[in-house]
Amino acid sequence: MSSNCLFCKIAAGEIPASICYQDDLLIVFEDINPQAPVHLLLVPRKHISTTLDLTPEDNILVGHVFQIAAKIATDLGFADDGFRVVNNCNQAGGQTVWHLHFHLLGQRQLSWPPG
Ligand code: AMP
Ligand code: ZN
Repeated sequence: MSSNCLFCKIAAGEIPASICYQDDLLIVFEDINPQAPVHLLLVPRKHISTTLDLTPEDNILVGHVFQIAAKIATDLGFADDGFRVVNNCNQAGGQTVWHLHFHLLGQRQLSWPPG
């Protein structure tokens, strides 16, 4: 855990969130400012600041994130329609919380390119 990190505090239960899934590696909760009918954040329990800080030992973790995103999309019934998993890295990428996370957006038609 990194002190003063919002997502570490949510993972530790120190700050409330609408958690919809958790296991040993990650937690999943509702984004406080949803951009789609389903907008969840998949957050590793391990504090990793950005995509640039990933190491080979995190490969299983990142694979697990996508497995769980696909399972949630399937369980919620929008997998076949389609969905998006997004990671924002650093300022120009739109990152605002410096604890690695992946957005799962679903249940609406998403446009491309993103803004
Ligand atoms: P990013 O801009 O990719 O770093 O994504 C950070 C996301 O965290 C944004 O979509 C915010 O709406 C979301 N967020 C910020 N604070 C909270 C919170 N306390 N609970 C849930 N989501 C949050
Ligand atoms: Zn953290």
